[in-house]
Amino acid sequence: MLTTRKEIAFGRPWLDESDKKAVMQVLEGPILTHGPKCIEFEEKFVKYIREGYAVTTSSCMASLHLASIYFGLKPGDEVIVPAQTHVATVHAIELVGAKPVFLDCEIQTGNIDISKIEEKITNKTKAISLVHFVGIPVEMDKVCEIANKYNLVVIEDCALALGSFYKGKHVGLWGDVGCFSFYPAKHITTAEGGMLISKNQKTVSEIASFRAFNVDRTHTNRSVPGVYDVIGVGLNYRMSELQAALGCTQMDKISENLHRRVKNFNFLKNELKNINGIKSVLDSKNSDCINSHYCLITILDKPLDKYRNQILQKLRSLDVGCSAYYPQPVPRMKYYADKYKNDLSQFPNATIISDSSLALPVGPHLNEEDMNIIAETLNEILSEF
Ligand SMILES: *Cc1c(COP(=O)(O)O)cnc(C)c1O
Repeated sequence: MLTTRKEIAFGRPWLDESDKKAVMQVLEGPILTHGPKCIEFEEKFVKYIREGYAVTTSSCMASLHLASIYFGLKPGDEVIVPAQTHVATVHAIELVGAKPVFLDCEIQTGNIDISKIEEKITNKTKAISLVHFVGIPVEMDKVCEIANKYNLVVIEDCALALGSFYKGKHVGLWGDVGCFSFYPAKHITTAEGGMLISKNQKTVSEIASFRAFNVDRTHTNRSVPGVYDVIGVGLNYRMSELQAALGCTQMDKISENLHRRVKNFNFLKNELKNINGIKSVLDSKNSDCINSHYCLITILDKPLDKYRNQILQKLRSLDVGCSAYYPQPVPRMKYYADKYKNDLSQFPNATIISDSSLALPVGPHLNEEDMNIIAETLNEILSEF
């Protein structure tokens, strides 16, 4: 009989004294928003991704929404989206009245099936909005080639892809914009928060203005206090200085963070080879792709796939954190199912990943001993079915 061991959390913010000190320093000063910490965080982010421009936002959802508005997506437009993603990718399309056109994913990576994109393009198609599934990079040169041919905007949901590179270029820099999340369970955290990046400076500076009411000058650029003009409608999707201070100290640890993830991932992937009932592990297909190792997703073999939810419950009852990414293909989620009534048999791979996979933790809060415990516990659970 298995006994309860040390708790292995699925996602846990990786915080230390330097993070706490940075937040306290902001609290002790006079500037809580519109300050130097957001700029410092943006600069550190760009330095890490090596090119482009970045602006802090209040969340990845906010970044995606800003992108939909900025590129003028509207009722009557169609946007190609993966069926297997976080609902935020699709909400951003739906919120501006455009129609999401869902595509199935590849079973090896969970990423959008690029070979099927062209079949879905009509004269209404305006954009492709895709996700780098759990940090496995999409083959973006192929996507950009199609987008160029049909003059489509490309939006990259990089919420789990900080540290994902394709052919030496960080994801989010291939398409028109990339959107990141700093929610607590992601690679780095600012509690809530996001970033929007682009290789195009004009895109970033115009979106930056839109995300701060579209006033024509920030506090520091006002020669007469309080005097500004407004150049268009806008929103308030800014990040605070408290959050940005965390972002800076989190970026200082990004290399170690990713190093621990790759070590844990490779170790666990190897251990799982010896376990009956495991069909495959999702991962990059070749060395052009650097995975950011958000988590490890394993697909269960038949007939164990039927017991996926029970297996997740058992793992959790034995203090092994786990999850389902994502629990349903988006076109099967109630709102989207009721509204669009897609034939769900079009999404066989997205369905397999939603219904028959386990997401296991590999975050920097864990080590090889923890990976051993995960593999052993899973092995014992699977052998009971
Ligand atoms: C978490 C997540 C989001 C949402 O991020 P928020 O910062 O919470 O808005 C969007 N897309 C993907 C792929 C995610 O994993």
